[in-house]
Amino acid sequence: PAARVSVLGLGLMGSALASAFLKAGHEVTVWNRSASKTGPLVAQGAKPAGTATEAVEASPLVILCLLTNDNVGELLATLPESLAGRTVVNLTNGTPAQARALSEQVTERGARYVDGGIMAVPQMIAGPHAYVFYSGDEEAYKEHEATLAALGGTRWTGTDPGFAALHDLGLLTGMYGMIIGVVQALALVRTENIRAEEFSGPLVEWIQAMLGIVPGIAQAIDSGEHLTDVSSLAVNQSAFPNFLETFAAQGVSSELFEPFQALLDRSIAEGHAADGLSRLAEMLKAEK
Ligand code: NDP
Repeated sequence: PAARVSVLGLGLMGSALASAFLKAGHEVTVWNRSASKTGPLVAQGAKPAGTATEAVEASPLVILCLLTNDNVGELLATLPESLAGRTVVNLTNGTPAQARALSEQVTERGARYVDGGIMAVPQMIAGPHAYVFYSGDEEAYKEHEATLAALGGTRWTGTDPGFAALHDLGLLTGMYGMIIGVVQALALVRTENIRAEEFSGPLVEWIQAMLGIVPGIAQAIDSGEHLTDVSSLAVNQSAFPNFLETFAAQGVSSELFEPFQALLDRSIAEGHAADGLSRLAEMLKAEK
């Protein structure tokens, strides 16, 4: 069934979200700080709102997609004191702490708050591989889940409003780890004029094979049993200087990898030589 939904923030992502709601047959109201961006959406059937307040008043479901959560806080401050009857779904990228603070700001004004982390680029929205992590007010989420499904998959992560951002950042942390390895590996082989494209074949194959160790590492972290018969911290610590020496000899900076050597060294110094790499997750824990 058609729902009424307002989208505030029509950048690359917000425009893709509004467009997906329109294609799913919903009644969409749009607002953007620079009014010119409403044009293409109005052409697709959206109603332009003159002000952010008008946009919020037009629909029970209000989607926010601004550049930062600071921008969201500033926008909320311009809205009426009471937002009763609204569900605010904030899909702006941010931190768990920001999501929790915004949740308080929104609920204090009588509305329900759901935070979201979009796992897609704008071109993927409404396609088979896009999904969004959600957290916060579960009742509000359930009420609007069918409408939100126009954007892609819906994945509930919990009632702590910070959890969607935590899941989003968690996945991207894994991605950046992979990117760090990829750029270092390609910088290394390029020092001998090996084509990066040629090396990317075996590199992808190797990374894919190594992904198989992730569930075992996760199991060790959950159980606290870090003893390994696969690859001990002692073995890794003694092999790692080979990398740093080779980077230096080939003229590639070690700045991304030196911290890992330091962590391996500390793990041995603290008596974990026989443990596997999963132990490092324990060692990274700092007081919150
Ligand atoms: P854009 O830079 O294309 O759009 C930014 C939007 O924020 C514009 O609508 C802009 O309005 C608005 N904005 C900025 N500052 C303010 C303000 N102070 N008050 C009101 N509106 C403001 O970014 P995207 O659309 O790509 O990204 C939006 C969010 O989605 C970000 O948090 C981003 O991290 C997240 N995201 C983006 C992805 C992507 O691939 N693009 C992927 C996953 C998440 P104006 O037009 O007036 O400048």
